[in-house]
Order: sequence, then structure tokens, then C-alpha cells
Amino acid sequence: MREYLKFYIDGQWVAPVTPRTAEVINPATEAVSGTISLGSPADVDKAVAAARRAFAAWGEASVKERLDLLEAIQAQYLKRERELGEAVTEEMGAPLSLGTGFHTLLGKGHLQTAIEVLREFPFERKAGTSIVRYEPIGVCGLITPWNWPMNQTCVKIFPALASGCTMILKPPQLAPYSAQILAEIIADAGTPAGVFNMIQGQGSVIGNALSTHPDVDMISFTGSEQVGVQIQKDAADTVKRVGLELGGKSAWIVLDDAAMAGNVAGATAGMMGNSGQTCSAGSRLLVPRARLDEAVKAAADACNAVTVGDPQGDFAMGPVVSKGQFNIIQDYIRKGLDEGAQLIAGGPGRPEGLDKGWYVRPTVFVGTNAMVISREEIFGPVLVVIPYDDIDDAIAIANDSDFGLGGYVSGVDADECRRVARKLRTGAIWINGGFDFHAPFGGYKRSGNGREWGEYGFHEYLEIKAIIG
Ligand code: NAP
Ligand code: MG
Repeated sequence: MREYLKFYIDGQWVAPVTPRTAEVINPATEAVSGTISLGSPADVDKAVAAARRAFAAWGEASVKERLDLLEAIQAQYLKRERELGEAVTEEMGAPLSLGTGFHTLLGKGHLQTAIEVLREFPFERKAGTSIVRYEPIGVCGLITPWNWPMNQTCVKIFPALASGCTMILKPPQLAPYSAQILAEIIADAGTPAGVFNMIQGQGSVIGNALSTHPDVDMISFTGSEQVGVQIQKDAADTVKRVGLELGGKSAWIVLDDAAMAGNVAGATAGMMGNSGQTCSAGSRLLVPRARLDEAVKAAADACNAVTVGDPQGDFAMGPVVSKGQFNIIQDYIRKGLDEGAQLIAGGPGRPEGLDKGWYVRPTVFVGTNAMVISREEIFGPVLVVIPYDDIDDAIAIANDSDFGLGGYVSGVDADECRRVARKLRTGAIWINGGFDFHAPFGGYKRSGNGREWGEYGFHEYLEIKAIIG
């Protein structure tokens, strides 16, 4: 049983102003796995005051001082990487190989990338005859979700630190453990008091207190559209900058070429990774209509090959994060059946033999882009295969979405993939499995605003000052 009852505020591990706790559930067993404290606005006031005091010095710290701190954090992170991965697995149910693999690798990658960008970042530039300075915005509230816990905390914390900001992190109630260990790592690395603070608790309380706080300069949020909209409204009265990374319904276009069936199989397996709980998941798979039978067979085979089970065992997929998410996904699967989508793999209910834990059957439908299951973010292992007539049709279908976060193009001809990518109205397009920590990540349309990752992530936390004459 884990017990994390203290917050990290002003360089100290402290009890909440008003003691209150909540149990955390292991989604693989439905059993209580530990206890955390829930904070109140009084804790937020303490943390914001500490962050404001610390900003006076940290905002002026040299690049060398910031680099030294990031490297000290990196040394601690590497020592405790396994522990972080185990915590991710316990809190949100990713298979241990994924928790201790890609989940912690993403956190480590954002840290290394912040170090690389900081070494080169021109905080002073010229524009015309003037000096343009990039200065830290100040005290930041960082509000993160449970689906890629290490990615989402690290992609905010390290660029914010590197930029000279001070911050208060509010981790998700569903996945509080890895954030707690990350806070220990940051504390043990010798971070100056008040520069980094962490308070656990409810979004409606702690998140709201941060969004409305007159002494918080910006909010960086990743999560649902609904909460993102609320934060934007809450932050409006104090004219805060708000960075939003919301949901998606990203299209994966498979070109009509020799690699088509293999690419469909790869895209299907990719969709089931992390139990489909990825904002940029390729949840609409666009395949050539003339070869629909071949594509359907490849998708069904790939889906049926995904093993589901105990995250501590050797399975490709664990449970989804909670009973609430399980029920949402079941509703969408039923909705897909009701609206006449053709089920080609998976379906409602738990996988055979798993009657405890929030396990979902990896599911593939063939449908149209007009169906609810093609329009709304399901956030589970549910893929919709949609046939296209020609490549212009594929591009039109991909762009016919309220969202604009990601996109994928797979095909033998990389130039043709890039041509298609240029036509897609989304913040990022991955071609043939490409991956780059320096590429910006963020949404067009209702997928949010602002960009994280690499140098682009720094700009979220920087003000621009002109010195003229
Ligand atoms: P969520 O409700 O948007 O929560 C994300 C974070 O915001 C959590 O830390 C949450 O705290 C906090 N929060 C909640 N209400 C708040 C408020 N009024 N003010 C400030 N912060 C607040 O996301 P979720 O409940 O975890 O998931 C719901 C849906 O969001 C999913 O089904 C999925 O569609 C989408 N989602 C998207 C992403 C993404 O990466 N784009 C990630 C996760 C979820 P609590 O701990 O109290 O919830
Ligand atoms: Mg919520």
C-alpha cells in the first residue's frame, strides 16, 4: 500500500492545511492501492506565495544555473526510473513493459530535450534595430491528466524550469503516484525552495484555485475539452495565458500501395497501445475502398492478436484507467452497434476470463465518418475503419473533424506521404512511424491551442519584451 500524505511546498514536505484523504484504486484489481491527501485553496495560496517569492531569484538565474539544476534532476530521474514506471503501471494500468518503457522514456526525453534546447536558446534576439528579450512569464499552474502521466508532467515542468518560471503542479487524482515520486526527484536534486511545488487534489478545487488565482500568470492544461473550456473561462478574469492540450480524433491514412495491409496491421496495433488512451491516437483508420476486404482482414487479425491481461504479466494491453472510463467506452461500443457500424473484432464487455479489473476488448468497427464513434473521442481501444475513394477523398475525410491534434500517413512513397501531410489541418502528422522530441505538439481547432515539446514548449512559458532605441 502506498501512502503519500504530504505536499511539496516552498522546499518542504508539508501536511495539507486541512487534512483530508482519498483512496486510489488499482484499475487492474479494483482494489485500493494507496492513499493520498486532497488539498484545499489554502494550500494553493501557500504554494503560489512561495512560487512568487522564488521567482524573484529563479527568473533571473543564469542559463548555467538552470542547466546545472536540470542535470541534477536528470541524475535523480535516471536512478529512480524503474520506480517511476512501476508507479505508472500501478496507478493507470499500463503493462509494466510500457510503464517502465515508453512512459518513463517520454519523461526522460523531455528532460534531455529541455537541456539541449536551453543550451542553444537565444533569450535575446534582434528585430530591426531593437532588442527582443524572451523572459519567463512567472508563476505557472500545471494541470495534468492520467493517461501518459510522466509525459504530461515532464513536458510541462522541464521547459518551465528551463525558461526560469516557478510552478505549482496539480497531478490527476486517478494517477497521483508517479507525480509524487517525480516531486521527490525534483526536491532531492536541490531545486531552490518555491521554484517547484506540488499539491494533490481535486481538479474542481485545486485546479480551479490555480486558474482563478490573481498571482498565477499562466495555466498549462492537458485533458478533456470540457475542463479546458472551463479553465479558459476561469482564467479570463485575471487575463492569464492558458495553454490547452485537449482531445483528438486523429486520422491514419494508409496509402494504396504494396505495404497497405502491413500498414493497416501496424496502425491497428498502434491504436490499442496504452489501451487507446492517447490524445493523438489514430482512431480513424482510412483505407482504400477498392481494397476494403484486404484492409478489414488485416485490421481484424491485428486486433485479435492483441493480448489483454494483468499489467504485471506479459500482455500487450492492460485495463483502462477506471470504472468511469470503462463505462464510457462500453457506451461508445454499444453506440457503434446501434448506429450500424460493422463490428469486425472485439465488442462489448470484458475479454474472456477477465472478470475483475477494468479490461476492455480491443475493438474494430468499419463505419462512416458521420457516425458518433468517428466524431467523438472515445479514449479507449476502439478503432473505426473508414474507406476512401481516392487520396483527395481521404484528405477530405481526415479534415472533416472538430478536432485537429494529430494525423498519420503510411505508405511506400515518403514524398507522397509528405504531400498528403501538408494538406491535413492538424498540429502534427507522423509519417511511417516517425518520432521526434524536437517537433512541436499541439492542436488545431478544438484540440487546443499552444504547442508543447522541444523549443516550442519554451515559448509557452516566455513573455516577449522589446527594447527599442
Ligand atoms: P479531465 O477531467 O480533463 O482532467 C484533467 C485534469 O484536469 C485532472 O488533473 C483534473 O483533476 C483536472 N480538472 C478537472 N476539473 C478541473 C477544473 N474545473 N479546473 C481545473 N482543473 C480541473 O480529464 P479526465 O477526467 O481525466 O478524462 C476525461 C476525458 O478527457 C477522457 O475521456 C478523454 O477524452 C479526455 N482526456 C484527454 C487527454 C489528452 O491528453 N488530451 C488526457 C486525459 C483525458 P481530477 O484529478 O480531479 O480529475
Ligand atoms: Mg474529469
